[in-house]
Amino acid sequence: MDPRVVELQKEAAGRDDVIGLAGGLPADELLPRDALAKALADVTASRDDALQYGWPEGTEQLRGWIASRLAARGAHVDPERIIVTAGAQQALTISARVLRGTIAVGDATYAAAIDAFTRAGAKVARDHGGARYVIHGVANPQGVELVDRAALLASTGPLIVDEAYAELRFDGHTPRPLIADAPDRVWHIGTISKTIAPGLRIGWLIPPAKHHAAALDQKAAADLQTSSLTQAALARLVTQLDVDALIARARAAYREKAAALGEALHRAAPQLRFREPEGGFSIWIETGREGDDLALLRRCLDAGVMVDPGSAFRPEPVPTIAIRASYSNATPDQLAEAARRLARVLG
Ligand code: PMP
Repeated sequence: MDPRVVELQKEAAGRDDVIGLAGGLPADELLPRDALAKALADVTASRDDALQYGWPEGTEQLRGWIASRLAARGAHVDPERIIVTAGAQQALTISARVLRGTIAVGDATYAAAIDAFTRAGAKVARDHGGARYVIHGVANPQGVELVDRAALLASTGPLIVDEAYAELRFDGHTPRPLIADAPDRVWHIGTISKTIAPGLRIGWLIPPAKHHAAALDQKAAADLQTSSLTQAALARLVTQLDVDALIARARAAYREKAAALGEALHRAAPQLRFREPEGGFSIWIETGREGDDLALLRRCLDAGVMVDPGSAFRPEPVPTIAIRASYSNATPDQLAEAARRLARVLG
């Protein structure tokens, strides 16, 4: 990420007059605060292993829960193959550390995946015959499904499959995990960041069996293990909370927010072209106009709205400007006002 963008965004995050549509933040009101407070207190008081070192692959309890959720979607994975990671982000880094080489990511993809891959020693490209990274269910930043299942299954290279938003499609259809059909070459990545709470920093990686030892070695070398405390709290939380009901509420809330921003943008700036989100947290607007991304962000901030400039999502530079606007952690009123402010800049 361009440090100048980060600096501008950090500075603006403290301003009351700026509506924040940057970063893929889940809605504050959906975080299971009380249940999590109780789970944290319970495991701290009652489970020694919550405060002790643990194994690099993560706790048996949590890996069992991850395996059971995948099994319910048609992917039967031995829990021994699951590595609990510090968010999906660390799973991306570990995958690239082991795979190296070049990873194809398409025209635009999750900006921090590009950073993770390149910092781990891999290269990224729009298209390439070898390894491929896809965001299954709902792509970030595009907000729609871009996975062509048949084409991917007909391909032969390694597939890094990120399911960050797979359970957050507005139509409620959670796709069958690709690991169910190509277990020998899918690097399956999941996270609870978008559905439960990103602050716990829990995700997971299921590498192909032949790469399991190398991936686990990378995990241990990076940070020994994922936090025992948050693993124990999450494992407790999911026995006390109806996770599917929480996800259903989240889908409905994000659908409403997406519609609020989409409709307000259509009203305020009818010339802007974007695809209606099918799920997830954001709208991707390609302006088709050439210009300087950083200057655009400055103009947005002057107008009182913060977005993510598009160049960070591009594996290869393009001359035209795009922005990602995340509706996920704003109210419908804020979204309507944000659209008016964006229209002043982009109109
Ligand atoms: N993948 C995608 C597509 C994401 O949008 C995000 C979060 N913005 C991540 C991975 C990282 O998530 P985590 O909090 O689990 O590290």
